[in-house]
Amino acid sequence: MTRQLLLSVTITFALVRATAAACPGNPDALGTARTIEVDTKSTPRVGRKQFPSTLPLHAKELVLTFDDGPWPSTTPKVLDALKSECVRATFFLLGRNVTANPQIARRALAEGHSMGHHSYSHPLLDRMPLAKAEAEIDRGIAADEIALYGARRTTPRTPFFRFPGFASNAPLLSRMSDRGIVVFGADVWASDWTQMTPDEELRLILLRIERLGRGIVLFHDTKAQTAQMLPAFLREIKKRGYSVVHVVPGQDHGTAW
Ligand SMILES: [Zn+2]
Repeated sequence: MTRQLLLSVTITFALVRATAAACPGNPDALGTARTIEVDTKSTPRVGRKQFPSTLPLHAKELVLTFDDGPWPSTTPKVLDALKSECVRATFFLLGRNVTANPQIARRALAEGHSMGHHSYSHPLLDRMPLAKAEAEIDRGIAADEIALYGARRTTPRTPFFRFPGFASNAPLLSRMSDRGIVVFGADVWASDWTQMTPDEELRLILLRIERLGRGIVLFHDTKAQTAQMLPAFLREIKKRGYSVVHVVPGQDHGTAW
């Protein structure tokens, strides 16, 4: 290859990269570094806080997840922060809150986030009979699907589920696996169920992320302190050299709908 050709290839590659990274109104955005497909064949359960393995992330890669929403006073702020940095996250929706705030759920979907499920009303599912627990899971999925896609079905378009309070058991995990639904735990969390200032939460989550170096991060988009600290969090992880990975369903999913 001539030197000139090599230079031209290098410039073209750089331009493609720059275009891919472009974020309207924010040339210095954190952005979404890459997307990985997740399915039950390769990773039925992920998150080392609960399970033996997690997503195949490289060093300094984070997957951002938000539970329990949508919530009118906080989720729009979370979406604003993600949008201004062109970061794609995953939301684990509570069917009850989606039914009350369908427009916010639809906004999150339209902005490219993955829409996972988190039951209808957040009970601890491991403490009830299997059939009752599955009915609660399905009620949540159906509420989310009708609001997001206009179809009341229990085969979710994005087959990702997180158990409320991480309260699962072997029969429930096995059912989810049989249904092709990936169960998400987490690798690190902000403990944002504990009241603290946004600054305290920021310091805590950064400390925990630095200890771990990569992983699935759990927040709650229903928490004001999380919504408030998120812009600073996204700036800080960029400064520290972290990148964000977006998780999406595997390609072969979707034949059932
Ligand atoms: Zn929850």
